[in-house]
Amino acid sequence: MKSYKEIDDNYVAHTYQRFDVCFDHGKGAYLYDNNGKKYLDFTSGIGVNALGYADPTWVAAIQTQATKLAHVSNLFYSDPMLDVGQKLVSMAHAKKVFFANSGAEANEGAIKVARKYANQKYHKERNEIITLVNSFHGRTITTLSATGQDHFHQDFDPFTQGFIYVEANDTNDLISKVNKHTAAIMIEIVQGEGGVLPLQSSFLQKIQNICDEQDILLIVDEVQTGVGRCGTLFAYEQFALHPDIVTSAKGLGNGLPIGAVLLFEKCEDVLQYGNHGTTFGGNPIVCAGANVVLDTLTPTFLTAVQAKGNYLFQKLAQLPHVKKVQGLGLMIGVELDTIPVAALIQKGIKQGVLFLSAKNNLRLLPPLTMTQEEIEQGIKILETILTNWED
Ligand code: PLP
Repeated sequence: MKSYKEIDDNYVAHTYQRFDVCFDHGKGAYLYDNNGKKYLDFTSGIGVNALGYADPTWVAAIQTQATKLAHVSNLFYSDPMLDVGQKLVSMAHAKKVFFANSGAEANEGAIKVARKYANQKYHKERNEIITLVNSFHGRTITTLSATGQDHFHQDFDPFTQGFIYVEANDTNDLISKVNKHTAAIMIEIVQGEGGVLPLQSSFLQKIQNICDEQDILLIVDEVQTGVGRCGTLFAYEQFALHPDIVTSAKGLGNGLPIGAVLLFEKCEDVLQYGNHGTTFGGNPIVCAGANVVLDTLTPTFLTAVQAKGNYLFQKLAQLPHVKKVQGLGLMIGVELDTIPVAALIQKGIKQGVLFLSAKNNLRLLPPLTMTQEEIEQGIKILETILTNWED
């Protein structure tokens, strides 16, 4: 019989360098591989499984929906889509939502809205979108253009035009690049794939002021930071920001694919019939699950996320080989001294605990439901690995 590695190697495009583990199932904050080995998971499928694995309410909701109606085209209404739409818009104090299927697609939608807004209200040349150096906004041609990292801008030319990159936290660079062609500024509050690097509050304020003064749309990409990950529904709420467009994905689906473009006052009516669409957007099963996710995000739940994040920050900072801990809530990056992060992750796998990397940093994105005891257990294993590290 062929091994999973052989099958993957022979039949699946080689876009991912996978770790040597094939998972079978999960429960709560634990994953179990094909051999029955148990792993404490600080990755959540890269920030997706917000409620952990096999949350009973979420499972029941999608099971029930699957037996009733798995899909209906967007030419018709369906209750789960309407429920999530109403809930998400009112929780975020937004005006409208467009449903997509991934983070990249949500960002594509946001970019389309920003371009149409500026084009209609001003002129066709007002089409530039400022994003930040070291950002990450997705893998489609346009969201790769939006991503401010040169190494993504190879091999797939021609890319979508009109993206200008500003150094994060560099107000002078920002001011020098805003001009009459600027339609929008697009940011992550914490650069996730870029290394878990939070933007400075003063820089965020400057962006907001420039947007307000010049009617430039503020797009906040909350694909990784949103849906409770940082201790509030969206991370921007912790800063005095009032974005015009917010994108969401990952945790909203809790394991099923969803993307959402939240539209605020200025652009609630920019998209009109026929302007945008996608076959699976607002899928009933996905939305039945997203409803459960949104119902879970009570103020008490979010306060607990903040407390668990604070605890992790404090404990991680005390571990050997740790230079710096940064992030927000349960989105945490750890800068290490000389330890190669890939080797550390491999050692974690051996010890039954899963971590991520982001650039050279260790990254933790545990399920938001991970318990205090589980966090302590994970820290203990990490401490043992780091204490006994030999080069
Ligand atoms: N935006 C941000 C901030 C992300 O972190 C990601 C994925 O990591 C994306 C967009 C792309 O999301 P997806 O992989 O669902 O297309």
